[in-house]
Amino acid sequence: MEIVAHTLWAAAGAALIRRRRPLSRGTVVATLVLAALPDVLQLLPLAGWWIFGDGSFAALRGYAVALPGQEPMLPPLVRLWSHHLHCVAHSAPIAALVTLAVWAARRTLWIALLGWWSHIVIDVFTHSADYYAVPVLYPFTERGFDGIAWITPWFMALNYAALAGVGVWLLLSRRRPHGP
Ligand SMILES: [Zn+2]
Repeated sequence: MEIVAHTLWAAAGAALIRRRRPLSRGTVVATLVLAALPDVLQLLPLAGWWIFGDGSFAALRGYAVALPGQEPMLPPLVRLWSHHLHCVAHSAPIAALVTLAVWAARRTLWIALLGWWSHIVIDVFTHSADYYAVPVLYPFTERGFDGIAWITPWFMALNYAALAGVGVWLLLSRRRPHGP
């Protein structure tokens, strides 16, 4: 899914959690950042190539919105870094390791990591075999699940309609101190 929808779903999730337990503003911000970050990391090598090398913003933008097989030509090292950063950020085993390490250090689950998990889980089902299937089991395999590509127009319309619906429901159900 694209970065805006990822962030909005994480915001909806944070709003829901906040009804059940206190959630600091910092945690909410971290949740949204972690929900967006997996799709930003892979652009950093291209940004470095643009700023410090002979890359260009056009290549960066082209890469960000590319369709399979139509990505701009990248230097091998930039492509390698970009590929593996994307894999690391979308890997359930790596997210699990990080979650457990942070859990051990803080002795409690860091809720903001759910933003990252939401990104991975949503992406597994909203990419397809011919649209960047997510390497959710990296580094064991880079094969992914054949879901529905989020870029499919009807799915995108449905996704934003659902987001709008959830947003309206969150607003309408906000000021009700006692539920039915
Ligand atoms: Zn992603």
